[in-house]
Amino acid sequence: MIPVTAVDVTDAESLVIEVLRSGKLAQGALVRQLEEGFAEGTGTRHAVAVNNGTTALVAALQALGIGPGDEVITSPFTFIATLNAILSTGATARFADLDAEHLTVDPDGVAAAITPRTAALLPVHLYGQPADMDALTALAADHGLHLVEDAAQAFGATYRGAPVGSFGLGCFSLYATKNITTGEGGMITTDDGGLADRLRLLRNHGMRAHYSYAIPGHNYRMSELHAALGIPQLARREELVAARRHNAAALSKGLAGTPGLILPGDAPGCEHAWHQYTVRLTGDATLTRDGLARALAERGVETGIHYPRLVFDHDCYRTHPRVAGTSLDDVPVAAAAARQVLSLPVHHALTGEQVRVIVTAVREALGA
Ligand SMILES: *Cc1c(COP(=O)(O)O)cnc(C)c1O
Repeated sequence: MIPVTAVDVTDAESLVIEVLRSGKLAQGALVRQLEEGFAEGTGTRHAVAVNNGTTALVAALQALGIGPGDEVITSPFTFIATLNAILSTGATARFADLDAEHLTVDPDGVAAAITPRTAALLPVHLYGQPADMDALTALAADHGLHLVEDAAQAFGATYRGAPVGSFGLGCFSLYATKNITTGEGGMITTDDGGLADRLRLLRNHGMRAHYSYAIPGHNYRMSELHAALGIPQLARREELVAARRHNAAALSKGLAGTPGLILPGDAPGCEHAWHQYTVRLTGDATLTRDGLARALAERGVETGIHYPRLVFDHDCYRTHPRVAGTSLDDVPVAAAAARQVLSLPVHHALTGEQVRVIVTAVREALGA
């Protein structure tokens, strides 16, 4: 089976052993080193490491003072953590439909969802594809709103030459299957020194000096062991993202013209980070999405569905008092995408031969 994800952290072995031998397990010099590498990678002045990507979103919203009574506008077609993070702060989530080509939030839809209570926009760089940051930055400025980027899947992506995470507060995940991993981990990037300071306080019980507390905080810290896993990958981040781009280009070349298949591509002016290479099946396809997934499994190609339902389309959210506007009819592009998407393997460890196997399997399964 060609797997849809590949975790590759063996190059961290010596650094992890160093941490074990040092006995210094809690947040320290390696976390700082990982933060510095991340700030460099996103071209931002500050990066604050936390224990996972969901925490990164929660802390970012909290640092901006977002809470009960505030509304946050996001995409309905994302991993559930985006919605859970908003709800964790006490704020209300509201959704905008997607751009039909790139599956990131449509700025016109976002504009239409703004109410007097809107406090922040939370676009998701889905699969590693940057959202339309020019339009969203302008909207945020016009309406006095905060901008938080869910860049969990998008480390290495750029929008008009600028790395994602450099537009608003950038929130990254370092979960096991993400483009760069610490097993579990997260990172928040910003140029704003005041926000970075607040994030560092929130992360460590609001503690300014030993047993002296500036604000009520939490424990969001990353451990040295986790940082040790990420540092070697950060050093080869360009190679890792280049491998994904190379594989995505080869898949798109091989699959071009397949009837019933919509292929992903870079949005205008963007460099996709290719966390996922996600195709969509139209009504013209000879198989359903699930039929294609089965046919590919039979041919030794693992696939994933990101995501089978919109985030609000589960009983626990449909009736949630702080989840606003939960009709599939209001977000038809997103609703269609949830029925059509299928992710193919695109990870850095694929061989050229495996890419050819994937292309042949898809073409054969669809009778192309
Ligand atoms: C992975 C992910 C998160 C959450 O990250 P964790 O590290 O798993 O907590 C948030 N948003 C999106 C879009 C993700 O893919």
